[in-house]
Amino acid sequence: MLLGHPVAHSLSPAFQNAALAFAGVPLRYTAIDVAATELPATLETLIAQRGAGNVTIPHKERVAGACARLTPVARRAGAVNTFWVEDEGLVGDNTDVAAFHEVATGLLRGIPEGARLALLGAGGAAAAVLTAVERWPGVRVRVWSRSQERAAQLCARMPAIATVAETATAAARDATLVVNATPLGLADAADSVPIDPTALVPGAAVLDLVYRTGETAWVRAARACGHPAADGLGMLIAQGALAFERWLGIVPDRRVMWDAVRELAGARPAH
Ligand code: NAP
Repeated sequence: MLLGHPVAHSLSPAFQNAALAFAGVPLRYTAIDVAATELPATLETLIAQRGAGNVTIPHKERVAGACARLTPVARRAGAVNTFWVEDEGLVGDNTDVAAFHEVATGLLRGIPEGARLALLGAGGAAAAVLTAVERWPGVRVRVWSRSQERAAQLCARMPAIATVAETATAAARDATLVVNATPLGLADAADSVPIDPTALVPGAAVLDLVYRTGETAWVRAARACGHPAADGLGMLIAQGALAFERWLGIVPDRRVMWDAVRELAGARPAH
């Protein structure tokens, strides 16, 4: 199951159910809209039923706080996107971290040496990005958030690699990879591009964690300016596939997952 608020837009049920059916597992993955006030009671029920699933906006940090045990990566990120129940209680993991690493190193064609990242946003997804790149050799990250205080709090957790930038453009001024970890781009509003692609260093890679039908306006604009670019659908599938493996001990068929979302998510480059 997926716990979040709202969750109606989520593609996770479509691709997880396709993978479960393909693997012959007689379980259903459902999205449950849980308001913040209902979260403690929902978690209690889940623990009693030995449930397993994913967590999305806005509950990732609170579920981390409710777990009996966190994996080291979930503890470092301070957020849980994948959970299951063991005898000790709720166990929390964060597969966004490995999923980001996988997608970013695919876009950059390997683990870069001395990468310069611009990270836009300072929430749970941004924390997963920092956790993922922490081990990249010589990496430096400039974090911009509309709330400078939140950016400063995030950077204080990883001071060896991260500093606060005052504007998105300042964050991106020498960036070899620019990551959007805000919800900008989910809607078709005029302000849906987090930073003008013409302000980026030539050849800088662009990774938008947001996804939507036909890709986001930012990804399309960046590609038109010659930047390698990808939206968040690859990361969504990767985090979901890794979660599936944690719950069931089975590696799901990612082709089946992609086929299930391709129609819903519109035209995009082949994977
Ligand atoms: P979050 O914890 O709520 O953090 C959102 C961040 O974006 C905060 O820094 C927030 O700033 C900022 N923000 C919100 N609205 C903004 C706006 N209109 N303009 C500028 N900044 C804004 O959310 P999250 O969990 O980090 O997720 C962020 C995005 O990444 C979401 O769209 C989510 O769907 C996406 N995501 C995708 C994947 C994937 O697999 N593709 C995985 C995780 C997340 P304030 O503190 O000022 O509100």
